Amino acid sequence: MKLHEYQAKDVFADAGIPTPASALASDVDGVVAAAEEIGYPVAIKAQVQVGGRGKAGGIELVDDEDEAREAADTILGMDLKGYHVGQVLVEEAVDFTDELYVGITMDRGAGKPVAMVSTKGGVDIEEVAEEDPDAIAQEHIDPSFGMHPYQARKAVYDAGVDSAVARDVSSVLTTLYDLWTSRDGSDAEINPLMVTADDEVIAADAVMNIDEDALFRQPELAEMEEEAASGDELEQKADEYDFDYVRLEGNTGIIGNGAGLVMTTLDLVDHYGGEPANFLDVGGGAKADRIANALDMVFSDDNVDSVVFNIFGGITRGDEVAKGINEALEQFDEIPKPVVVRLAGTNWEEGMEILNEDLVTVEQTLEDAVQRAVEYAAEVEA
Ligand code: GDP
Ligand code: MN
Repeated sequence: MKLHEYQAKDVFADAGIPTPASALASDVDGVVAAAEEIGYPVAIKAQVQVGGRGKAGGIELVDDEDEAREAADTILGMDLKGYHVGQVLVEEAVDFTDELYVGITMDRGAGKPVAMVSTKGGVDIEEVAEEDPDAIAQEHIDPSFGMHPYQARKAVYDAGVDSAVARDVSSVLTTLYDLWTSRDGSDAEINPLMVTADDEVIAADAVMNIDEDALFRQPELAEMEEEAASGDELEQKADEYDFDYVRLEGNTGIIGNGAGLVMTTLDLVDHYGGEPANFLDVGGGAKADRIANALDMVFSDDNVDSVVFNIFGGITRGDEVAKGINEALEQFDEIPKPVVVRLAGTNWEEGMEILNEDLVTVEQTLEDAVQRAVEYAAEVEA
């Protein structure tokens, strides 16, 4: 589960990390009122759960009411990498001299959490990791002891952070680790952690992802999840339909049963040069109506150009799935996006017989099905 920036900032601020004064708004007048309260200049920031909002036009700095109205009008309602912007954070603009990166995540290779610090903040940290990995100082943490104060100082020192702010940055990093642990985080990140001319540090952005399986003991965050989900229509729909669904940024829609099988399909789409648009697991025993709902989900994603169905029958029966696919597609005068189907396992042969090949492309193997779907998607893009 991902928190919105404004939610993560609340969590960080409560723990004592400095954040700019800010207020949430969902219409132009609300933005102006908030800006007046905070005082110009302000940053107007789209509240959608994707990185790189700045580059994509989702963040604007404004100096007066006219600019605020114009920016609010542009950003509110815009489509940002497939996400509808319904809310913006209006925030005191920070006058900065440096942009740092601090983050905590799980290093699965090392089997330990890792604290990271870099003076190359403000840009995508994955890019820094690829082009200049030495620019990210790392310190692995033994979770049974927690992060020792010297570890925070060492990471900050190794990263080459200016000594004038080293103590404050270490303290932010320590707090971030404590939050990561106590709030069951999977990632906690501040990028950029801005440094001002008078050597203050302030979290200009905030990312906090929570382990969903721990939400039962994080009631406050579980409440935030409901609020967070309401930002994205598709994720909301997935909740209603009770699907495990994750929206991604590609254009090949994926439907499968069982998390492992869906992950495999994602990897294969990537392998054949495509880009997955989503993870969608319809679960076991998928009856016709669930199949129809799954198709409705991927069809309503504007990014999707083709769909691959990958079903392995166990409890789920191939003939049931095939009926569901036919029924769902028969409702359309024109199929919105090409659908490729691969069935295996229980009753797969009956399923293949039932599938209406005027409506879908049937493939025998997983590899062929994925390749075909990737080809269809590429044709649409071309
Ligand atoms: P992201 O692109 O989605 O990660 O959004 P961020 O909140 O990290 O903002 C991206 C960039 O916008 C930052 O690195 C800054 O360069 C700029 N920015 C964001 N907030 C402010 C602000 O208050 N003042 C100034 N001057 N720039 C800002
Ligand atoms: Mn950022």
